[in-house]
Amino acid sequence: MDIMPRNYKAELTGVFGQPVAENPTGVMQEAAFAACGLNWRYLTVEVPSEQLADAFRGVRAMGMRGINLTIPHKVAVIPLLDGISQEARIIGAVNTVVRRDGALIGENTDGKGFLRGVQQDAGVDPRGKRVAILGAGGAARAIATELLLAGVAELHVLNRGIERGLEMVSDLERNTGARVRFGPWTNTYVVPSDMDILVNATSIGLYPDVHAIPDVSLAAAKGDLLVCDAVFNPPVTRLLALAKDRGMPTLDGLSMLVYQGVIGFEMWTGLKAPEAVMKEALRAALAE
Ligand code: NDP
Repeated sequence: MDIMPRNYKAELTGVFGQPVAENPTGVMQEAAFAACGLNWRYLTVEVPSEQLADAFRGVRAMGMRGINLTIPHKVAVIPLLDGISQEARIIGAVNTVVRRDGALIGENTDGKGFLRGVQQDAGVDPRGKRVAILGAGGAARAIATELLLAGVAELHVLNRGIERGLEMVSDLERNTGARVRFGPWTNTYVVPSDMDILVNATSIGLYPDVHAIPDVSLAAAKGDLLVCDAVFNPPVTRLLALAKDRGMPTLDGLSMLVYQGVIGFEMWTGLKAPEAVMKEALRAALAE
């Protein structure tokens, strides 16, 4: 009788962050690994800032296939890498590390995930569109970069903190060659009638502050303005509910979260990701 050799060795991926316990990415990645019959694991690991370099040495030592970075490591990880993609360099942050020929390369899939949601779930091609983004943090930078690379016609950035907003705009202009407008967000932002897409990339409305809503007016906006929210918990924020009441199309933050994971899965494994499985796993986890 032939004895089949067994392979008990798992391939490792995961996320480093602090806090990290409520990060639901592992649920969808492990569902995807199982659906594809892969003996891969996704470890959700709490790593304090002062231990990041040691933890990263662990990634190398254990031959991990890849790692996600979340708060507060997305910028701090950059000097520890062997290389960085053009998009991640422009954004100035890395959320996904991929092992390629033994080298650890930094990528950023947040903006790509948002873009895929706009194209696939909302059915909108951003090329030539006018877009307003609320916020100037990591999510806003990632979304703005990918929208500019995708060829939007106009980008307006609104942020409460003027210095941070201006810095983001000047980084975007310098790195993409596009012209970006900045507006200090001190009064209600009345979305103009020629705007095609509005994105909330602030944390306003994020659990537990579910009743908070960005200070915007949709009264002058056109009826088919696509209203998007990066906030994924709750999936239907008050901003999205307001847009739905007006019959406007919407895109929730779950879409961005799923697709950034889908793109990460494909970068790590080289396989087509089981998108429906990942979406369902995430929805179920967040509904618990
Ligand atoms: P940052 O902390 O880097 O940035 C937060 C932004 O929100 C800043 O522009 C800040 O403005 C603004 N902001 C926060 N509170 C207020 C307020 N009360 N009024 C006006 N502006 C405010 O966070 P991130 O960019 O990393 O994340 C932003 C959101 O995107 C979070 O909700 C996060 O969960 C979500 N996200 C979703 C992802 C997904 O896949 N769906 C992926 C990544 C993030 P200021 O500069 O003035 O402080």
